[in-house]
Amino acid sequence: MTAAEDVAGAAFRHCGELAASRGREEEAPAFWPGYRVRKSPRARQVRLTMSLRDGLVVVVPRRFDVRRIPDLLQTRKAWLERAAGRVEEERKNRETQAEVTLPGRISLPGIGQEWALYYRATDSRRVMAAERAGNRLVLFGDTGRSESCRAALGRWLNRKGHEHLEPQLVSLAAERGFALSRVVVKSQRTRWASCSRRGTISLNVRLLFLPEDLARHVLIHELCHTVHMDHSREFRALLERHDPDCKENRRKLREAWRHLPAWLDSRPRSW
Ligand SMILES: [Zn+2]
Repeated sequence: MTAAEDVAGAAFRHCGELAASRGREEEAPAFWPGYRVRKSPRARQVRLTMSLRDGLVVVVPRRFDVRRIPDLLQTRKAWLERAAGRVEEERKNRETQAEVTLPGRISLPGIGQEWALYYRATDSRRVMAAERAGNRLVLFGDTGRSESCRAALGRWLNRKGHEHLEPQLVSLAAERGFALSRVVVKSQRTRWASCSRRGTISLNVRLLFLPEDLARHVLIHELCHTVHMDHSREFRALLERHDPDCKENRRKLREAWRHLPAWLDSRPRSW
C-alpha cells in the first residue's frame, strides 16, 4: 500500500485515499533515516509517497530547490510517522501472506451481495470465474495456482464494479443534480476514488467491500468535486449538505482498508 500526500497547499486531483490521511500533529516524530527525490515535470507541488517497496520518495517539480526538502519534511512529521506505521504494518502482513488462503466466501456489502466460492480444477491453464444461480461463484481451470485464482477473482470484481458502481454513481448524480461527464471503474491501490479536472470520476472496485453508507460517502465526495475541484470551505459546505455525516464518514474511511480481504491485497498488481 502506498501512502501519499500533497504537501504544499491545495490538493487538486485528490481523494479519499486508502492509506493517507491529513491530520493534527502529534508527538515528537522518530528520526527519519532517508528519502529519494524524484523530479517530475508534471508535478506542480511537492508530494510525499511512502511504500514498502520504495521507502520515502519526495516528488518535486523540475525547478524545485531540493535544499528545501529537509525543512519541508519537518513540517510533515506527523504524516511521516503515520505512513511509516502503515508501511510497517504492511510488511508484517506480507510476512503472513504465505498463509493467506483463497476465500470460501466473498461479501460485497457495498452492493449487498454475498458469494459462495467453488473451485473446480480442469485441464485449462487459465482460471475463469463464472457466476451460477444462488450466488455461487465457480472458478474453473488451474485452480491449484493461487495467483491465477486471485487474478480471476480480480477480473470478476472489476466486472461487478462496472455493473454496480457505475450505475450507482450515475443515479446518485441525477438524484442530486450533479453534472457527471464520465465514470471509470478500476482497481487502484491507493485511492478509493478521484475526480479529474475534466469531470471524469474514477472509482476503485474495492469500494464494493465497504459498508454501503461509506461507499456512498466516497461517491458524494467525488460528485462534489465536479463543482469544486479543491477541498475549500465551499466544497466542504456542499459536501455537508449532501452528506450530513461526512465528518464521521471521513474518519471511518481512514480505517476502511480493514474491510479489504487479505487475498485481495496480495493479488498481482497487473489486474
Ligand atoms: Zn477530495
